[in-house]
Amino acid sequence: MLSVADLRKSYGDVVALDGVDLDVPAGTLVAVLGPSGCGKTTLLRSVAGFEHVHGGSIAVNGRRVAGAGLHVPPHRRRVAVVPQEGALFPHLSVAANVGFGLDRTARRSGRIDEVLELVGLPGYGDRMPHQLSGGQQQRVAVARALAPRPPLVLLDEPFSALDAGLRGDVRRDVRQALHADGATALLVTHDQGEALSMADQVAVMNAGRIIQYGPPAAVYREPANQWVAGFVGEAVLLPATVDDAGAATALGRIALRGPAREGLHIVLLRPEQLRISANGGGVAATVVRHDFHGHDALVQLQLSDGTRVTARVLDTTPAVTTGDEVTVTVRGPAHTFPA
Ligand code: ADP
Ligand code: MG
Repeated sequence: MLSVADLRKSYGDVVALDGVDLDVPAGTLVAVLGPSGCGKTTLLRSVAGFEHVHGGSIAVNGRRVAGAGLHVPPHRRRVAVVPQEGALFPHLSVAANVGFGLDRTARRSGRIDEVLELVGLPGYGDRMPHQLSGGQQQRVAVARALAPRPPLVLLDEPFSALDAGLRGDVRRDVRQALHADGATALLVTHDQGEALSMADQVAVMNAGRIIQYGPPAAVYREPANQWVAGFVGEAVLLPATVDDAGAATALGRIALRGPAREGLHIVLLRPEQLRISANGGGVAATVVRHDFHGHDALVQLQLSDGTRVTARVLDTTPAVTTGDEVTVTVRGPAHTFPA
């Protein structure tokens, strides 16, 4: 539904898009995940038609909208955009906001009620934007984007202004609404939790390029390189000597997720793969830090050779504290990078 090839865009000396390739299949939600300044907004604005690109091409629904000598203006691309916040017309009711881009027939067809119901706001049509919470306003913005059944919906960090407590529900409901409506959507965010929980496919972006594209679980478990490993979650990276029996590391022998050549590698474990106990089997370690997060805790450990690793502990009741002597074991296989 969206096909971006070798897209390039600069602002003076700043290269914002450095050859972006990206495909968004019909009916899916793709998240572009990358740090601030990596070019996410520029990519969305280029797809929407607000930016003239300097190279490459963009096709929406099989039709080229940008490329050599071609720039289809935004209104003719029919791409819907949900911005970060403040998207609603303050003087129009919810129903009038949602129906803004619809012709009279469509407005009378029940589509406005339909999309309000999809985003979890049935019966809210007569409210004014200032009578809604931030989360409800973003739901209305999504409903308005969906209303004209655009070929593509673009969302630029749409939940970043919401309270953490609210964000989870809004993300879940918006994801469900997009799927229920069969929409094709491209979401950009710097928040890995948002990308991993919402998207069918995640495109990891850095410095103007897409460096990995795949399902959330693959991006998390088999990141393309060490930078991706650290960006999409907490990474435990350890030097390892690989032979046909697995990998020898400071945490003992570890199984590998896939085949790897014999020799030196870096292995990746996630903190939830590390189990700590008071005196179980495994490698001896000292607790050097304990960060309590409510639902879990991250425990930083120092091994006898000085290596530091992080374990995620779900059962925080028999709390460990700094200075405790514990033992560490590893669950599940590790991903490898060439050393
Ligand atoms: P992101 O959305 O990932 O934070 P942006 O696409 O906004 O990144 O920006 C990418 C790069 O392009 C940054 O270095 C930013 O400073 C620069 N940039 C974006 N818009 C402009 C502009 N209108 N003029 C000059 N530089 C810009
Ligand atoms: Mg941005």
